[in-house]
Amino acid sequence: MSTLILDGRATRDALIPGLMKRVQALSYVPTLAIIQVGDRPDSTAFIRAKKAFAKKIGIGEKHIQTTETVSQSELIDIIKECNADKGIHGIIVQLPLPIHLDRDAVIDAIEPKKDVDALTAWSVKRWLEGREDAIMPATARGIRTFLKMYKIDLFGKKVTVIGRSMLVGKPLITMCLNENATVTVCHSKTPDLAKETKWADVLIVAAGKQGLIQAKHVKRGQVIIDVGINSVTGEKLDDEIEGVRLVGDVDFEKVSKKVAAITPVPGGVGPMTVFSLFENLVDLCAGMN
Ligand code: NAP
Repeated sequence: MSTLILDGRATRDALIPGLMKRVQALSYVPTLAIIQVGDRPDSTAFIRAKKAFAKKIGIGEKHIQTTETVSQSELIDIIKECNADKGIHGIIVQLPLPIHLDRDAVIDAIEPKKDVDALTAWSVKRWLEGREDAIMPATARGIRTFLKMYKIDLFGKKVTVIGRSMLVGKPLITMCLNENATVTVCHSKTPDLAKETKWADVLIVAAGKQGLIQAKHVKRGQVIIDVGINSVTGEKLDDEIEGVRLVGDVDFEKVSKKVAAITPVPGGVGPMTVFSLFENLVDLCAGMN
C-alpha cells in the first residue's frame, strides 16, 4: 500500500476561508505584535512567514525589533506598551531569546488575554487542565487540527512524543492526553529510542535533530508527524521560508517507504502551526482565554 503524505499546505489552504470569515466578522482589524530580540536568521525567516500569512488573511501585524543587547526591563517595557495598546490584540515574543534574558519573566509580562503563544503561566495552567476554552500553543493545536482533517483519531491510540520542551513537547503531550491517547514521552536521556518509537501507532518527533528517526525506529502502519525544523546548507530553497533549506528530524526518504502516513518538511506541520497561531489570535479577539 502506498504511503499517505500529510499535506500541511493543502490542509491549511482548505481551512483559510473559514478563518477569514471569522476575521471579517470582527468590527476591527485584529493585529498581532511580534517582538523580536536581535536578528537571528531563523527567527527572521519564521517572522517573515507569519507576516505573509497575516497579510493573506487580513490580519494586521506590528513587528518590533530590538537590539540583541536589550535589557530585561527595556524588553518588559515594550511588552507593557503592547499590553496597554488597544490597537494590538495579540503579542508574541519570538523565541529563543538571548541567554542574558529571563524567558519566563519576559513571557509572563504578556497580558494573558493577548497571549497568542499560550505560554504565560496563566495560559499554561488552562491548557494543562484541558479546559475547552483554553488557548493551546500553536504547534499542538495545528497538529490536532491536521490529524482531524485527515480523520486520524488519537482516541485510544498509542502515541510516542519525542521532546519535552515547554514550547513544543509538553503542549503536544498534553494535547494527545486530552484526545485520550496513551502517551509515551522520550527525550535525550531515553536509553532505547527505537523500542519506544516502534511501540506507537502515532509517532510525533520534536527534537530538532536532523536524521534522528531512521527506518529502524518505525514499523509498518504507523503515522509519523515530524515537527523538527533543521536548517541545512543546500541549493533547494523552501518556497515559503526564503533563503533556508529545511529538513525535519525524520529521514523522510527511508521512513516514508515503510509507514502508513507521514508529514514532509517543509510543507507538513509548519504551515499548520502558522495557521493555528492566527486561529489563537482570532479566538482571543472573540474573548476566549
Ligand atoms: P528544544 O527546546 O531544543 O527541545 C528539544 C527536545 O528534544 C528536548 O526535550 C530534548 O530532550 C529532545 N531531544 C534532543 N535530542 C534528542 C535525542 N537525540 N533523542 C531524543 N530526544 C532528544 O526544541 P523545541 O523548541 O521543543 O523544538 C523542537 C523542534 O521543533 C525544533 O527543530 C524546532 O525548530 C521545531 N519546531 C517546529 C515547529 C513547526 O511548526 N514545525 C514549531 C516550533 C518548533 P531533553 O529534554 O532531554 O533535552
